[in-house]
Amino acid sequence: MANKIPRVPVREQDPKVRVTNFEEVCYGYDLQEAQLEASRCLGCKKPRCVEHCPVSLQIPQFIEQVSQGNFAEAARVIAQDSSLPSVCGRVCPQESQCEGSCILGIKGEPVSIGKLERFVGDWNIANGEHPVAQASAQAKRVAVVGSGPAGLACASDLAKMGYGVKIFEALHKAGGVLQYGIPEFRLPKEKVVAQEIQNVLNLGVEIETDVIVGRTITVDEMLDTEGYSAVFIGSGAGLPRFMGIPGENLNGVVSANEFLTRANLMRAYDAQYDTPIYVGQRVVVVGGGNVAMDAVRTAARLGAEAHIVYRRSEAELPARAEEVHHAKQEGISFKMLTNPTEVIGDEKGWVRGIRCIQMELGEPDASGRRSPIEIPGSEFEIECDVVIMALGTSPNPLIAATTHDLETTRRGCIVADEQQGQTSRKGIFAGGDAVTGAATVILAMGAGRKAAKAIDAYLKNE
Ligand SMILES: Cc1cc2nc3c(=O)[nH]c(=O)nc-3n(C[C@H](O)[C@H](O)[C@H](O)COP(=O)(O)OP(=O)(O)OC[C@H]3O[C@@H](n4cnc5c(N)ncnc54)[C@H](O)[C@@H]3O)c2cc1C
Ligand code: SF4
Repeated sequence: MANKIPRVPVREQDPKVRVTNFEEVCYGYDLQEAQLEASRCLGCKKPRCVEHCPVSLQIPQFIEQVSQGNFAEAARVIAQDSSLPSVCGRVCPQESQCEGSCILGIKGEPVSIGKLERFVGDWNIANGEHPVAQASAQAKRVAVVGSGPAGLACASDLAKMGYGVKIFEALHKAGGVLQYGIPEFRLPKEKVVAQEIQNVLNLGVEIETDVIVGRTITVDEMLDTEGYSAVFIGSGAGLPRFMGIPGENLNGVVSANEFLTRANLMRAYDAQYDTPIYVGQRVVVVGGGNVAMDAVRTAARLGAEAHIVYRRSEAELPARAEEVHHAKQEGISFKMLTNPTEVIGDEKGWVRGIRCIQMELGEPDASGRRSPIEIPGSEFEIECDVVIMALGTSPNPLIAATTHDLETTRRGCIVADEQQGQTSRKGIFAGGDAVTGAATVILAMGAGRKAAKAIDAYLKNE
């Protein structure tokens, strides 16, 4: 199915300029652009885009409202299923979800669903009515651990149902990875993240920051002595993995999580903040996911010559296509089919390079991707001052270690039913990266929403 109107391109900051600043790369659609792009949607009776949206957003319905200029109504349609449209419109992997299955994509370009969602979210922040707290219809209170997308989605839905909800967050700012991981140039913190969190607060949800559950208070205490009738754990997967190769403890080797937390949450790139961050002349980032792209693009903005080293080929890069495209435009070099074997140090214990080996692709492995195999005798060295490891993360073991009989997998993920988030403990639910391991914003939100429904059912039958 083709469409006579071509997909409306989105305006972006010039790559040469944006690589010197932390301002947002993509400007998004203006009013006319949004209406024109919305007019491309066919309003399918059986919309494939909705089937492939993890929170089943009513996509043709909101797009129809945009095409007619009813932006407030478009925002209301989205709000039924998502409390974070400005966030999701910016960071969801639309190419493998809604847009990847849009009927227009079969013979041409799919509708730009993500950019339209972002437009509506931003319009609503600037002009919309903000949600108000519901009268507390339920006497019971629910505690939520973690203020990332899973916790925020669960808390919003429970608040809409009339429960008293309090989120406990370990860091000093709410938002989880949206706040400490994804950089400002992709997801503005004050303009977007803080505003969408404010909408959650407007529903009557309380957020207490600087509370490390498992240290300051335990999940068992929340249930036994603090008066909560149920707990949702959305504590994410913030524990970085390393390769286990020689030289990983040299000065100048850092996890992407630490690097990005310094840059985002602690504002190291802003001269008004004292947070130290070191990039030297040349940075090598090991990995090929969104985290690796964020780290390498941040390093480039801090003035380093920045390289990606990834053991598979470009076709297997797990990062969003848009992020890879943007990174290339910004001059990032990609060394594919390359795997580090050792970080090399100088006599003072600082990184001076990384030894790598060339790889080739063999048969598909358990992930379905072709597995990388070393080519004997192909070792070589890359000179660098900093190595950033972006190899994935696992859940922090603290909550599992301090909550009685909470079952976890071998990889430290909390065991929870996929449909309801029910854990091995009655009254304790979990979802998001804490259950699945590192995944996506929208999957975390979907899990939070399913758990909210299950918590409601549990509390009504208790
Ligand atoms: C750099 C980076 C870039 C990414 N880019 C994308 C992207 O472009 N698109 C996409 O869809 N996904 C992306 N992701 C993945 C996505 O952000 C996560 O899948 C999502 O945030 C998971 O949500 P969550 O709520 O489960 O956990 P999180 O967002 O990790 O939130 C968990 C929260 O719980 C808090 N917490 C942890 N332990 C405790 C405790 N003991 N007590 C109290 N609070 C606690 C944490 O401080 C954190 O605030 C990215 C991830 C990273 C790291
Ligand atoms: S599949 Fe594409 S054309 Fe059909 S309703 Fe969804 S966005 Fe519109």
